[in-house]
Amino acid sequence: MPTYEYECEKCGYKFEKFQKMTDPPVKVCPECKSRKVKRLIGVGGGVIYKGPGLYTTEYRSEEYKRKEKEEKQAASSSSSCPICTSNTCSTCNK
Ligand SMILES: [Zn+2]
Repeated sequence: MPTYEYECEKCGYKFEKFQKMTDPPVKVCPECKSRKVKRLIGVGGGVIYKGPGLYTTEYRSEEYKRKEKEEKQAASSSSSCPICTSNTCSTCNK
């Protein structure tokens, strides 16, 4: 069960709460009873949002996938024979 960290914007009180992912977030400050409580995102293993680096990450993963695919193709065509699955096939290899 993740720990969510909250902070009251009115009195500055910080507290943590064990909650299920499906539980509704705390709305009322236990100290001053105001409704200015906000959940601190990304603290305590809750939900992590990707920031401005999202585009870069996606681009890099696409690049990574492309290279991985190329490497697989290169490996399957050079290191082993697709017919007899031998690395040193003299019958099938040209
Ligand atoms: Zn408060």
